[in-house]
Amino acid sequence: MLFPRLLRCHPGPVCTLLLALLGSGCTAPQAPANANTNTNTNMLTVAVAWKQTAAEYEALYYQAFNLAQMQVERAIGEHRQDAPPLAVILDLDDTILDTRAYWASLLAADQDFFDDSRWDAWIPSRQIRASPGALAFLAYCVTNQVEVFYVTSRNQGLETYAYAEAQLRDNGFPHADSNHLTVLTDSSNKQLRQDQIAANYTVVLKIGDNLNDFSRDYYSADAETRKATMRRDQALFGSRYILLPNPTDGHWVRALFGESEPAASDANRRRFRQAAIEGK
Ligand SMILES: [Mg+2]
Repeated sequence: MLFPRLLRCHPGPVCTLLLALLGSGCTAPQAPANANTNTNTNMLTVAVAWKQTAAEYEALYYQAFNLAQMQVERAIGEHRQDAPPLAVILDLDDTILDTRAYWASLLAADQDFFDDSRWDAWIPSRQIRASPGALAFLAYCVTNQVEVFYVTSRNQGLETYAYAEAQLRDNGFPHADSNHLTVLTDSSNKQLRQDQIAANYTVVLKIGDNLNDFSRDYYSADAETRKATMRRDQALFGSRYILLPNPTDGHWVRALFGESEPAASDANRRRFRQAAIEGK
């Protein structure tokens, strides 16, 4: 190792600088005593920086919607005239709608956990945008008589539906109306509405950033069970389920904390750190 050898040098400018950097003694650096409890780093910084700047993040959206269109094209080709009409079911936030400005605002305010009151204040601020590739995919669906249904679980009180519909209209999404948009203000369970749609349509795809957008089976209390269920369904990803990336929020957080919106506490910061180090 280079570093300890440098520290055995005679006193001089280099060693003086290293000593100054280390703060004490000419010894190899040690892990801080509180390595298991360090909560000084904003948990969201890297995830939000990636969402904001990585071309890879946006490319994953194009990849998802390109794949979705391929699956819809296939379904159109195989669709029998006497079968129910084709449809796709889409989540809103972090699926067809881009919420990055919200997460950036959290970082700017030195917040490191999802903040529900800030979210509720941000929703009507008209900063939400269409996700990369979403509008082109939905235009393709509508042009080819494939019905589009939006199902979201949000709660901004009595205005929840109006806000969501306005966001769809503002961004040019097709069929932004009550026949196609469902907001679930009291539950994250989308299964009932999805089953209602499936009773009348041939559902080609579900598209979301959360496994719970596909099946309630994923609403489990621990990360390992979610992974096991996901592996059970592995053939469905890319065929019936199209998944978008989301490292900031979702039911993967619930699997760690028992709730999707854990409080900004040192205990929860330590829980994130434990998950990162131990993988559970
Ligand atoms: Mg979502």
